[in-house]
Formats: sequence, C-alpha cells, structure tokens
Amino acid sequence: MRDIKRVVLKLSGEALAKDKGFGFDDDTIDLICENIKKARDKGLEIAIVVGGGNFWRGRSGQHIERATSDTIGMLGTVMNGLRVQDTLEKMGLETRLMTAINMQEVAEPYIRRRAVRHLEKGRIVIFAAGTGLPYFSTDTTASLRALEINADMILLGKKGTDGIYDKDPNQFDDAVKYEKLTYSEILQKRLKIMDSTATSLCMDNDMPILAFGIDNPENLVKIVEGKEIGTIVKENFDVR
Ligand code: UDP
Repeated sequence: MRDIKRVVLKLSGEALAKDKGFGFDDDTIDLICENIKKARDKGLEIAIVVGGGNFWRGRSGQHIERATSDTIGMLGTVMNGLRVQDTLEKMGLETRLMTAINMQEVAEPYIRRRAVRHLEKGRIVIFAAGTGLPYFSTDTTASLRALEINADMILLGKKGTDGIYDKDPNQFDDAVKYEKLTYSEILQKRLKIMDSTATSLCMDNDMPILAFGIDNPENLVKIVEGKEIGTIVKENFDVR
C-alpha cells in the first residue's frame, strides 16, 4: 500500500465523455466509479473535483462576456458532479456533493470543515462548481481543495495519455515520458498538464501531483497499491 490516506482525484469532463467528446459515456463512468469504490474499499479517503469540458469551457464563448461564459462552465461541472454521484451511490458508496456556488436544493454548499468531516466518515466528497470564481479552472480548484482539506496528493486523471511527456505523445512518436518532474520544470518547459495557476499553487505549498491515465481506470487501484505509474510532480525528490 502506498503511504497516502487522503487524495483529491481530478476528473476532467473529457474523461467522463471519453470518445463521445460531449456529455456522458455511461460505461466509462461505471468503470471509473467501480475503481473509485475499489480504492475507497482499501481505505483511501477520496475527494473528487469534477471538470466541465464535456459541456462548456469559458474560453469557448466568444460572443459571451468571459465571466458569464465561465459561470456556464462552472454550472456544467455540477451536472458532472450529479452524474458521478448517482453512479457512486448506486454502487453502495456514501457520497456528498458540495458546490462552490450555492444551490442548496441539489447539493450542499462547500464548507471546508464539513468536507473534512465527511471524508473522515468515509464518504466520498464531490466538489463541483469549481472555485465559484470566473477565470479559474477546475485544475486550480483541485489544487486549492487539496490544500484546504490537507490531502496527501492530487491524482490528476488524464485522458489520452498515461503521464506527462515532453511533447504530445498522440502526435509525436518520439515523445518521451517523464517519471518525475518538478513544478518549476512544468512551468519552464510550458508542459500542458495543468494550467500555471494550478501548478504555482501546488508549487508554493508543496502539494504532490500524480498525473496518470484515466483511460484505464484500474490505474486508480494500482496507485493505492503503490505501483509506479504515471508521472509524479514534486519540488524536492530528496525529501518525502
Ligand atoms: N471554471 C471557472 N472557475 C473555476 C472552475 C471552472 O470559471 O473555478 C469554468 C471555466 O470556464 C472552465 C469550465 O468551468 O473552462 C470547465 O472547467 P475546466 O475547463 O477546468 O474543466 P475540464 O477541462 O477539467 O473538464
């Protein structure tokens, strides 16, 4: 078993849509949730940050005020949160959906101490509506929430790749995968794994990130078992 007790799992909207590119791919969501359950059954405390790119990204709305467009994006993440919650609950897990924009008829408001309490009780907490603020991303949300709830690590589930490469492995045959990286290297090399706000937040507060391929959701269990997969990001590899 890897020495991690509490994680934030970042699930992008794309991961939930798989090849459809839009909306939900039910089989994929089932598979992801089954593996979340297996990881939970091994004792891992799991908070999920859901993205929204399978519905809307703020930057897509060229005829809309950016802040409004971002709000539409944040609302898309709530749809994903509800969708993932439904499957996890059907699998017998206890969950709580918490949103950064208040919508108490459908979800709890995000309150840090309550989120931590839910995790301590073994519930899976799903954070939706991002940070509640425009111009941010759900990657930044994952970094922020991971720090707030004292997570040991962010598990960054990536679609279409199994880690971080020097260039896009789907476009270049000679792309080389990194086993380890520092935050500074991500920023300097402009590696498109996380936006710079999210990366900087992790760097300034030393929050480890494990980027792995979510196309094979069984990777989640492998991570808990301590198997060396994906790319680990820290600033200092001499200190644990
Ligand atoms: N968003 C935002 N503030 C946040 C988080 C998200 O405004 O704190 C908006 C932003 O427009 C973003 C969209 O929600 O494009 C969907 O989130 P994201 O692109 O991070 O989703 P992913 O790519 O992970 O599916």
